[in-house]
Amino acid sequence: MTHLLRREVLLTRLQQPQEWDLAVIGGGAVGLGVALDAAVRGFSVVLVEAQDFAKGTSSRATKLAHGGVRYLAQGDFGLVREALHERGAMLANAPHVAQRLPFVMPTYHWWERSFYGAGLKAYDVMAGGQGLGGTEWLNSTRTRELLPGVQPRGLHGGVRYWDGQFDDARLALLLARTAAARGALLVNHCEAIALVREKGQVRGLQVRDTEGGVKATLRARCVVNATGVWVDSIRDMDAEDGAPPRPRMVAPSQGVHLVVERHFMPGQHALLVPKTEDGRVLFAVPWLGKTILGTTDSPRNDLPLEPQPLAEEVSFILRESARYLLRAPQRNDVKSVWVGLRPLVRPQSQRGEGSDAVSTKTISREHTVVVGRSGLVTVTGGKWTTYRSMAEDVLAHCMARGLLPHKAGGVTARLPLIGAAPGRPLGEPPGEHLYGSEATLLRTLPGAQKWLWREANGGLSEAMVRFAARYEMARGVEDVLARRSRLLFLDAAEAARQADAVATILSDELGHTVPSEDFKNLAAQYLRLP
Ligand SMILES: Cc1cc2nc3c(=O)[nH]c(=O)nc-3n(C[C@H](O)[C@H](O)[C@H](O)COP(=O)(O)OP(=O)(O)OC[C@H]3O[C@@H](n4cnc5c(N)ncnc54)[C@H](O)[C@@H]3O)c2cc1C
Repeated sequence: MTHLLRREVLLTRLQQPQEWDLAVIGGGAVGLGVALDAAVRGFSVVLVEAQDFAKGTSSRATKLAHGGVRYLAQGDFGLVREALHERGAMLANAPHVAQRLPFVMPTYHWWERSFYGAGLKAYDVMAGGQGLGGTEWLNSTRTRELLPGVQPRGLHGGVRYWDGQFDDARLALLLARTAAARGALLVNHCEAIALVREKGQVRGLQVRDTEGGVKATLRARCVVNATGVWVDSIRDMDAEDGAPPRPRMVAPSQGVHLVVERHFMPGQHALLVPKTEDGRVLFAVPWLGKTILGTTDSPRNDLPLEPQPLAEEVSFILRESARYLLRAPQRNDVKSVWVGLRPLVRPQSQRGEGSDAVSTKTISREHTVVVGRSGLVTVTGGKWTTYRSMAEDVLAHCMARGLLPHKAGGVTARLPLIGAAPGRPLGEPPGEHLYGSEATLLRTLPGAQKWLWREANGGLSEAMVRFAARYEMARGVEDVLARRSRLLFLDAAEAARQADAVATILSDELGHTVPSEDFKNLAAQYLRLP
């Protein structure tokens, strides 16, 4: 398999004349899900990703495989039921990077325990046979036992329920590699720069390798635009000459996460506050040895690749964390701050207004698939948890429009991803457990015991960097430290310290000098609070 993922081999395959069944633009959760589903059905598939797999929103989620307790409160039962089903599929297919996680909602008012408990019992019922554990009412003593970091002042009790958690970027890589093992060609650092149109129909795309600048034209029967918050820029490529600008499909909404040490929230449980003083949701989630605090939901007008947090967002998270945690995290306790853009789909009535002053909290989290007159298929919205069912829906649209012949699907609901094997809880520091059954292969690589960064039972070894280059299509320091290892997201200062060592190992693996300066600048950004 390793030689098939070598860059030279990928670029050679990209340039060979061929008509693909399906060309996918965008290597986030949704594009990768589409590529895998189509490859499993037996279609020939090519996917291009302008940056790196999951560089966009798909590495910046709260990492919850969930039905969405919040959407239950909004009465969005269809979305919750679908997502609960998908949560089960994700945990079954990638148990090394997706597992169940207990949550506690602490309650400070007499009515909250029965109110939230009843809602969560309904959540259990909706999960049916795919429930991960029953909801329980807790008294205040038990709540403090399970959440030793919770603010005990005024605590009435709590409610415990179960949901799922995953490593988003690593799951994306597993989707890419599993699709590649099924014959799909997936190329990162390769952007779509134009669509090929013939007689008003989309017949392929032009791509550019962003490393070497090599261009290629890919012919395809069907082109899927799965570029998340960036779908409108691809839709613009599909416009007739001189046509007025198309209505925008996406209203991006920014979400910020702060990472602090685990001692602010020790134990195995996550904390969820369903309604903070100003009506927002707050999570404190154990993840890879640290605690993630978040998140926010702020409409914005632009689409930067590395969005910056707003001062108000950071102060909201710190202020509300201080209310619910015994030890209030301070600004200088923050190890990393990362920001993602939700691709929320505007309601039909709001598309095309040109104004971006849309309240994103009221926009549905459901996804949308649009097939244009030219045959361009655009998919956006939804959530990470539902990537698989979104992919099925995309293929159903492609087949219904006659862009692809009918081929039965449904197989991905029970399709173990590469390395699938039970792993240690994701709350523990990163290590070999994230590689599942591939940990054996990892141990055969040079430097398996040479730790660049060491955490209890794990960390980042030289072998992991070599594995990233040989098997996970890593091309630069950021690819390794942000997405193959998650060190940038866990501890940005430590990630910067490891940049030179990672660059040296990558240079050895890739046969050319790999720079580290840009990554150090990026890491500095992940430490900067407004
Ligand atoms: C703060 C936050 C928290 C969230 N938490 C959760 C959660 O806990 N659970 C959950 O289920 N969901 C969560 N979500 C939602 C989830 O992360 C997204 O729905 C999902 O990641 C979107 O995936 P995508 O593939 O549509 O977009 P992306 O991951 O952004 O992928 C699109 C890709 O297209 C590429 N691209 C753009 N232009 C081009 C081009 N011209 N050529 C080639 N490639 C191109 C981009 O580089 C990008 O990688 C969260 C989202 C946010 C923002």
